[in-house]
Amino acid sequence: MKKIIGFIIGALMTFIGFINIIITNIEMSTARGYTFRLPYTEYEAGVIITKYIGIGMLIIGIIILLLMIVSKIYYSKNVQDMSDVGNGRVNFISCPVCNCKTTRDSEYCPKCNHKLK
Ligand SMILES: [Zn+2]
Repeated sequence: MKKIIGFIIGALMTFIGFINIIITNIEMSTARGYTFRLPYTEYEAGVIITKYIGIGMLIIGIIILLLMIVSKIYYSKNVQDMSDVGNGRVNFISCPVCNCKTTRDSEYCPKCNHKLK
């Protein structure tokens, strides 16, 4: 559930940030009589601050989304490994001495300590 919330927050922040940048760009290109150069008027400073907040939100949103995607890939890989064990796809071998079952990569039998490799 937490992952879905993370995705929503990341997507929302990216979206709002993107819209913010577009709106402030339109505002800056259409506002007549304002240069948006120093010294700023209160209005110009407001628009510029809003734009930087938009850029910040866009960057943070993208970082959140990337983290979510990476953790999702990592998570599904782990689940895959677990299901391999469940399906018996991780091969087991039997010890020739005591017939104890162990994983293929074991070097010694866990029961009688017979060398398997
Ligand atoms: Zn054994």
